[in-house]
Amino acid sequence: MSIHRSQLLQAFDSLLQPERFKDYGPNGLQVEGKAVIRRVVSGVTASRALIEAAIAAQADAIFVHHGLFWRGQDGRITGWMKQRLQLLLAHDINLFAYHLPLDAHAELGNNAQLGRVLGFAADARFGEQDLGFAAPAAFDNVETVADHVAQALGRTVTLVSPGDVGGGAAARRPVRRVAWCTGGAQGYFESAIAAGADVFITGEISEPQAHLARETGVGFIAAGHHATERYGAPAVAAHVADQCGLSHQFIEIDNPA
Ligand SMILES: [Zn+2]
Repeated sequence: MSIHRSQLLQAFDSLLQPERFKDYGPNGLQVEGKAVIRRVVSGVTASRALIEAAIAAQADAIFVHHGLFWRGQDGRITGWMKQRLQLLLAHDINLFAYHLPLDAHAELGNNAQLGRVLGFAADARFGEQDLGFAAPAAFDNVETVADHVAQALGRTVTLVSPGDVGGGAAARRPVRRVAWCTGGAQGYFESAIAAGADVFITGEISEPQAHLARETGVGFIAAGHHATERYGAPAVAAHVADQCGLSHQFIEIDNPA
């Protein structure tokens, strides 16, 4: 089966509804390639390694969470940007990228899929543009949550336990609500606290969150930007490929961040 580029764009758009979001870059078709599409490759980031792997897989389209274009870039097509674009254009490959709409989708998005992997059934949303997810949980303390996340994602995580500095009782407190937001969502920590979370899980940590965790008694877990965002793109691409009768393959490009 094959499909026209514009029909594939429409299928992604109607599923992810990018018009509902204020984002940091353009969502949808970022680089136009061939008109007829049979094979879709999905990945987390439109890196050179992913583009080269998609070329080897004879992809007609790539679907990613992190595309090529972001607000604040100076717009020059030089260096790494030239290399990535040159590969796409030379092989006539379409690049589709969806950022916040892919985080947010209630069943197939990054947050929903991370919840599935971690076994959490979200019953609430919080934070700016409702990107944060929250769910009931039953853990003895934040350490057991961190162990669970590390095991489910297959990597070490950074835990700031409220007990790290003189808050032993807080650290041993049971965890009844978990909140999470994938990627670089450390800025959502305060809204997670306000939403009643006992622990917040995201990809990255910055300096202020360690203090906030200790001072508020709410645990903070940084489990990796890539590691928390590798489930949405394949879920959406597989769903749309299935709907349109296309072949689909997710290509993992390991990233320690
Ligand atoms: Zn991200």
